Amino acid sequence: MDRQIVFKCPQTGMNVQHRLAAAADQGTETHVSVPCPACTRLHLINRATGRLLGEK
Ligand SMILES: [Zn+2]
Repeated sequence: MDRQIVFKCPQTGMNVQHRLAAAADQGTETHVSVPCPACTRLHLINRATGRLLGEK
């Protein structure tokens, strides 16, 4: 099933909603590139936690 996550765009500080598509087990890959509508860049999101890479 898909998951709805919310992350804070580090470029604009805006909260961005994103739907993480359910995927088959992709082994050790834990981060996915998410196109950000706020700044149009890609952010790396941890699939397990929904947090940005590097975010405490
Ligand atoms: Zn962004």
